[in-house]
Amino acid sequence: MRLIADLKDLLLPRLCPVCGKLLMESEDVLCAFCAIGLPRYSVSNCEDNTLLRMLWNRSDIRRATTFLSYNHNSPYHNLIIDFKFHGKRELAVKLGRWAALEATRHGFFEGIDALVPVPLHWWRRLGRGYNQAEMLAQGMAEVTGLPVVNLLKRTKYRKPQSTLKGEARLKNAEGIYEAITIPAEWQGKTFAIVDDVMTTGATLAACARALQCADKDATICAFPLCYAE
Ligand SMILES: [Zn+2]
Repeated sequence: MRLIADLKDLLLPRLCPVCGKLLMESEDVLCAFCAIGLPRYSVSNCEDNTLLRMLWNRSDIRRATTFLSYNHNSPYHNLIIDFKFHGKRELAVKLGRWAALEATRHGFFEGIDALVPVPLHWWRRLGRGYNQAEMLAQGMAEVTGLPVVNLLKRTKYRKPQSTLKGEARLKNAEGIYEAITIPAEWQGKTFAIVDDVMTTGATLAACARALQCADKDATICAFPLCYAE
């Protein structure tokens, strides 16, 4: 097995996606230096913070947190590119685990019944092979023991939010998410919607409205992995 692992490393060297250096055997996904330097976004109060204030005028989201500060020009941006476009689903699971460990310390998951990933349109999911928000949620589930339930679906194929700005994002996210018929055992529950990057909050707000449209007694919280200030 050792020989196979060595051969694999020789043929497909494992590189740190942030600095590009060769990963040591003990390093998983990121090199130790870049792991320590992760641009953490500090959320001290899950029930009143900058993210929530952006979401409040468009949705009834009770609690929100995030893990990383997102900057398009930072080399850490490669993490998002890798798990969204380069098939690195394991990276998303790992980041979901780290994000959940941090959020657990702030009590974010207290009272939450399930994690609900922001859905991808089936066509995009087919091309990517997975939904990155679901991979993040799986990582969070491993830490918290919470179930991941796919209660939302994306009904229309539109431009990715990352290609749009401001008002255009709001319009683009409008009316494209719907909840499935909520099974009886999930009615009146508290859900944390999981997404990769929050910018204006248009996607999270649209997903929260879709869930509450299907179940007015649902309580909604939000957990984007990153927040783009
Ligand atoms: Zn590195």
